[in-house]
Amino acid sequence: MSAVVLDGKKIGRLIEEELQNRFIDLQSKGVSPHLAVVIVGDDPASHVYVRNKELACERCGIKSTRIDLSEGISEQEILDTVNRLNSDDSVHGILVQSPLPKGINESLITDAISPEKDVDGFHKMNLGRLVQGDSSGLLPCTPAGVMKILDLSKIDISGKNALIIGRSRIVGMPMSILLAQRGIDATVTIAHSRTQNLSEICRRADLVVAAIGRPEFVKSDWIKPGATVIDVGINRVIDSSKKSGYRLVGDVESNASDIAGHITPVPGGVGPMTIAMLMSNTILATEIQSR
Ligand code: NAD
Repeated sequence: MSAVVLDGKKIGRLIEEELQNRFIDLQSKGVSPHLAVVIVGDDPASHVYVRNKELACERCGIKSTRIDLSEGISEQEILDTVNRLNSDDSVHGILVQSPLPKGINESLITDAISPEKDVDGFHKMNLGRLVQGDSSGLLPCTPAGVMKILDLSKIDISGKNALIIGRSRIVGMPMSILLAQRGIDATVTIAHSRTQNLSEICRRADLVVAAIGRPEFVKSDWIKPGATVIDVGINRVIDSSKKSGYRLVGDVESNASDIAGHITPVPGGVGPMTIAMLMSNTILATEIQSR
């Protein structure tokens, strides 16, 4: 039997459409939501992500400003850019595209963004609020997008075994907090590079969130029949039959869809949800700043 495909592109567009009323409310108060995206260097994947974010802003009517900084820029110059955007009242959201060049301390940059403008949801204050059990603030976009897919697809996770593979600051760790929070009530296991017997742990999971960054690392025979599989991974693998020379694959073997009950595709699953949640955070940040 084939799994139900959780169409992130379709759900993401619905979320963007639902933001329209809040956007109109802000406009009627004379406020125009504005997102500033800082990109450092020439990483081709980062440029694609930033372009997709700009296109989403266009769809939602949000003004976007892109600031391109050269690869060799110093940490201080990035901090100066962030500080300038912090003090610009016309800017409501600031995002510094990850990854940053080697030698730049990403946490330092993230924490320099005003918490009210931190639309990526990575600032200590926003993550701290989440740890305290309050998920009403600016949440990290990818985990928040996964929660939306589960909610809108009516996947019951209360009391279920959820396995998150990967413990990064931007995906795995906040994902675990959101799934374990009161009212969601999953029983959460976090696996990482030192985890032993991962395949066995995975076979017991009703929900698997894979955020590793390794192509098709999770094998289809690790998946419990009927489980929900959320594939966060975006990996480029060489494919000479493609015009681009590569194709995108997830962290989960594609034939896991023969075993899972629900699965997100790559591309078209978590990626568009991340962007929709960025739009949602930008509207929320604008609302917070215009109260
Ligand atoms: P990361 O490199 O920061 O973290 C990877 C995690 O995987 C680490 O916590 C590590 O412990 C774990 N890991 C590595 N090897 C492992 C192993 N053998 N067994 C178990 N765990 C292992 O990566 P990240 O930023 O969290 O991103 C993960 C993936 O998700 C990447 O492919 C990235 O491109 C993708 N991503 C997608 C979106 C989206 O919108 N779809 C957003 C963010 C990241």
